[in-house]
Amino acid sequence: MLLGVSTGVFYGTYEQTAMNEKIRQLADLPIDFIEILFAEPNALEIEITQETIDAIKGKRILVHTPFYQYTKEIIQKTIAQAKRLGAEHIVIHPDYIIDVNILKERDVIFALENIKSFPSTLLCGFHFENFAALVDQIPVSIIVLDIGHAIQSGGEEEVIKYLDAYNQNIAACHVKKEQFTLSCMKLPFFSKIPLILEGRCKNREELINSIEEMKNISVKQRNNF
Ligand SMILES: [Zn+2]
Repeated sequence: MLLGVSTGVFYGTYEQTAMNEKIRQLADLPIDFIEILFAEPNALEIEITQETIDAIKGKRILVHTPFYQYTKEIIQKTIAQAKRLGAEHIVIHPDYIIDVNILKERDVIFALENIKSFPSTLLCGFHFENFAALVDQIPVSIIVLDIGHAIQSGGEEEVIKYLDAYNQNIAACHVKKEQFTLSCMKLPFFSKIPLILEGRCKNREELINSIEEMKNISVKQRNNF
């Protein structure tokens, strides 16, 4: 099972931690992936130092765009960060896209997440049908399935709908600790796909425990199938 952690786990208690430090704190954890979240446009100005890049050598890197409508500038700066970091894909939110043409960059891969950002500032799930209709108009074929958002919009059945429709194109799943015990997480599908831990962790101990619990999902899968 491939595991990862988003730097988003540092929000809250870890909020003041600087970007480079957040990344380096994930460097020595027993995970395969690090997802680097540039939550604010000004985070894109931060230089990820060579020291940080050296520290995460051997980890596979993913990048997440800021939670703002995508101006050309935001997308270009995210792409520049992703290239410097050697990211495998850039996670984007479908309804932050103003102009699909700015996503036609050939040497980076974008991955659409099932999240609805508007009109509410409260992030929540997309109903599968609405997501599918929107995705049809966007030149991106890779999906990041956020389990929490799918559950919010339609329960575990909604998760199944996404798996049925996008199976081969789901590059990663965002998952929070509260969702580890859902019965859908025992589906064999989840043993093949990188699971990226999101959600705040109060401290390093909680983070390490969550990674350990995430690993146990695969033990449960083996016991069930
Ligand atoms: Zn997201």
